Amino acid sequence: MSSIAIRDLKVSIDATEIIRGLDLEFHKGEVHAIMGPNGSGKSTLAKVMAGHPDYEVTGGDILLDGESILDLEPEERSRKGLFLAFQYPIEIPGVSNANFLRAALQARLPEGEELDAVEFYERLYQKMDTLEIRREFTSRSVNEGFSGGEKKRNEILQMAMLEPSYAVLDETDSGLDVDALRVVANGVNKLRSPKIGILLITHYQRLLNYIVPDFVHVMYEGRIVRSGDKELALELDSQGYDSLRPVETV
Ligand code: ADP
Ligand code: MG
Repeated sequence: MSSIAIRDLKVSIDATEIIRGLDLEFHKGEVHAIMGPNGSGKSTLAKVMAGHPDYEVTGGDILLDGESILDLEPEERSRKGLFLAFQYPIEIPGVSNANFLRAALQARLPEGEELDAVEFYERLYQKMDTLEIRREFTSRSVNEGFSGGEKKRNEILQMAMLEPSYAVLDETDSGLDVDALRVVANGVNKLRSPKIGILLITHYQRLLNYIVPDFVHVMYEGRIVRSGDKELALELDSQGYDSLRPVETV
């Protein structure tokens, strides 16, 4: 099955349960959006999928094409085709974007196989043209002194070069100006294809004005409480998240 399937996932930090029985499945060729109020656990979900060591999975499973990835290191998950983009990308002074991407691609080749430099640059420039990224970008240090929009551009370029089967983009609340939003949206729209499944995490409906998702899920207190199509995002925008608060049973 070509999908990421999250089954009854439970995650704790310092003995506090943050994700409390979450179910979600997305397939190649689909764009799913997760929305939800601050603190509902959206970024925690992204980090757990990436394999962040601070989070303890206490129950459930995450399956990539039918196989659990929970015991895999972050690099192994990446090699299996999972790409995670973070809200706050790290800066790597002294390492150029081009060299960073080269090293990332080289790391995926079998032992003893060398990445062809000419082919690499051809591919890099072709992707940069598609994403409308200037050539000077290749020689700048990874994310150092980048604006919010430039960091996002870089993230999308990384995704374009790695050609993941599944991508999780955590585009939460803070720091996304309209420029950055457009960059993410244009990039995602250009990379959308039957070969990639995209999970887009966002606090605000406005990103979904630019990227029309196939499915929308609402996360609330560590669970998916509603799923629907793009209309659900519009409904949330007009009624707010309070309308989704689960009814307390006494
Ligand atoms: P969202 O991305 O939906 O805003 P988060 O996943 O960032 O939500 O946070 C969910 C909850 O988990 C919050 O209550 C937050 O305070 C808590 N949390 C997240 N990361 C940590 C951490 N590293 N240590 C302690 N608590 C955390
Ligand atoms: Mg977040």
